[in-house]
Amino acid sequence: MGAMDNDISENTQPSESWRMTINRDHFKKSFSSLPGWICSECQTGTMREVEGQRLVHEPPWSRDARDHEAWDPDWISEDFAVILECQNPDCAKGSVVSGTTSQQYVQLTATELDYELMLHPSNFTIAPLIFKAPNGTPDTVIYELDRAFHLFWSDTTAAANKIRNVVEAVLTQQKVKRTTLSKKNRRVRLNTHGRIKEYEAKKPEQAELLMGLKWVGNANSHVTTEDVSRDELLNVFELCEHALVEIYKPHAKQMKARAAAYTKRKGRPAPAKKRRRRRPRHKLT
Ligand SMILES: [Zn+2]
Repeated sequence: MGAMDNDISENTQPSESWRMTINRDHFKKSFSSLPGWICSECQTGTMREVEGQRLVHEPPWSRDARDHEAWDPDWISEDFAVILECQNPDCAKGSVVSGTTSQQYVQLTATELDYELMLHPSNFTIAPLIFKAPNGTPDTVIYELDRAFHLFWSDTTAAANKIRNVVEAVLTQQKVKRTTLSKKNRRVRLNTHGRIKEYEAKKPEQAELLMGLKWVGNANSHVTTEDVSRDELLNVFELCEHALVEIYKPHAKQMKARAAAYTKRKGRPAPAKKRRRRRPRHKLT
């Protein structure tokens, strides 16, 4: 019995709970203080708000409404912009996040109430990393993922639709053909479904994962009345991450190289790395 099976017996939501890499607290609709998102530029640094640089704009009609006798802080309508900076000194990339604000009602004591300012981000110049693509994921796939990560904030349906581009980019990188011969012996384009069927012959398990993702992309490329919820989209991203791990198997490659190294040394430990002495530089005269 593997670790996954053990988890199934111990958890109430078995299939979803054994490996969650996305920090869902970072991808809520609103925040009282902005979280330490992971920078998608260097993929390691944390992006923090640069203090003293927050801009908030309230239009006059919202300010004027304060005169109304029934006015409540949740009538306030504002837009904000904040500068984030990656804390990794080698990166230090900036990103501007903007959106709207709201006032959240907070119960201080049984009789005392207060309102807390909430930020609702809807756009980033550099969107935070939602998950890190496994080593070996080609740039074409990372590019499509990044577009989906951007859209996550403004349009969940469009972000879900981008998943189909991710699938297409994987298929192309996996050298799955784009065309086939029709019954009339004419060369015709293969759609995503057809390409996944081609891939199935080579890698059936991985193709099954891509097929699931393709359906998500399909369903969200048509006009729908209902937007995908953020939570649902994060589930899709998790499936996407899992599919990439299964396809590019970064861990398997690493372990294969390690096994090969042990075999080469017949199990002996790796020799200690020799320190290279730097040759003294010739002094300029
Ligand atoms: Zn960075």
